[in-house]
Amino acid sequence: MPAGIDGRRPIREPGGVDPEPSVEPPVREYEYVLQCPCGTTLRAPTEDEIVEVSFAHLRAEHPDLAPTYGREHVLFMAVRLLKG
Ligand SMILES: [Zn+2]
Repeated sequence: MPAGIDGRRPIREPGGVDPEPSVEPPVREYEYVLQCPCGTTLRAPTEDEIVEVSFAHLRAEHPDLAPTYGREHVLFMAVRLLKG
């Protein structure tokens, strides 16, 4: 048995071709949705933005609550939904 043949295939094909599939997987788009107890639904495409949007909402509508919420609270309450 020649050396180097052990049943495992190399990840990269010879010739330096990137091991990317020729057909790209569909881009999954998510959005973050946070249902505020006041009934407002906040949406944003990224974690950072849902945090910003939520803080803006808190400061505008619930200034008494705003200081008690941190990024982790927002992300804990937010759900990530698949768009589409
Ligand atoms: Zn609210």
